[in-house]
Amino acid sequence: RETANKIAAGEVVERPLSVVKELIENAIDANSTSITVEIVNGGKSLIRVTDNGDGINKDDILIAFERHATSKIRKAEDIYKTNSLGFRGEALASIGSVSNIVLVTRNSEDKIGTKLTLSANKVVDKTNVGFNRGTTISVMDLFFNTPAREKFMKSSSSETAAISDIVNKLALSNKNIDFKYIVDKKNMFITKKENSLIESIFSIYSREISKNMIEIYSDTNSLKISGYISNVKLTKANRKMQIVFVNGRYIKSKEISEALRISYKTMIPSGRHPLCFIFIEINPSEIDVNIHPSKTEIKFNDDGLIKQEIYKTVRKALLENDL
Ligand code: ADP
Ligand code: MG
Repeated sequence: RETANKIAAGEVVERPLSVVKELIENAIDANSTSITVEIVNGGKSLIRVTDNGDGINKDDILIAFERHATSKIRKAEDIYKTNSLGFRGEALASIGSVSNIVLVTRNSEDKIGTKLTLSANKVVDKTNVGFNRGTTISVMDLFFNTPAREKFMKSSSSETAAISDIVNKLALSNKNIDFKYIVDKKNMFITKKENSLIESIFSIYSREISKNMIEIYSDTNSLKISGYISNVKLTKANRKMQIVFVNGRYIKSKEISEALRISYKTMIPSGRHPLCFIFIEINPSEIDVNIHPSKTEIKFNDDGLIKQEIYKTVRKALLENDL
């Protein structure tokens, strides 16, 4: 069983960022309205996610670390409605098999919380503790028992950058949840439910963007596009900062990048890229959900329509604001 878990860990847990992603998704799935993510040393020493969600029932705590233990059943199209990968019941078993874990949790049905300490999925300690409703899971010493994987991890700063990228996007696409992100004891950002989109964008990306962004908006029968794009004068060369969500899920799309390039084409020197935060709402039947849920690439049934609508919406906003 442990061998199976270690092998499975290779699929679910490639790097610290995969752990962070799975833990945040679990917190989201547990109906949390507040999530704090803390990492130390690129997540290699510590990854801690605290939520105020449903918590885990006392009787289910150990089961949660077993493989294929899931309390969730999902339909394929739900994957695109939420950011959730949580339906395979593999994450905690896999993460647990390659780390030391301290889990503190309390379900609203339980009067007192539970603190569970595990080392490579072996119970070290299990006690009752006072705790608010919700869950704090601390994952320490990732890959301590799989030296090959431990060596495969990148420098703390690269792992931190990769984690930050995913935390940023999850915070931005889950506007109904307060997020707090702490790196090596330093507060990186706080977003609040009551913040507007642009306020959250500025809290999260304050280092990367400057104050002047242009709002975009269009709504046709088939497609709603909203968000913010950089003003032509401010446009920097960084394709990484083209952040697109489809039905709340972060995606990469060559078509959309291309549409953006053309929209800005006559306005900015070649080789430079606009910054943008674009939220697309589309009927799920218009996108191909038949791809692996962890992949961010997406297929639209009607590429042409998407490109055209992005172009129209962006172009209109640029012309109104900058020329
Ligand atoms: P999955 O998310 O695919 O169900 P996981 O291994 O990620 O599988 O988690 C196993 C189970 O543990 C979940 O189904 C859920 O019942 C419980 N769980 C994990 N994290 C949390 C959390 N933060 N809050 C409440 N329950 C959780
Ligand atoms: Mg999960």
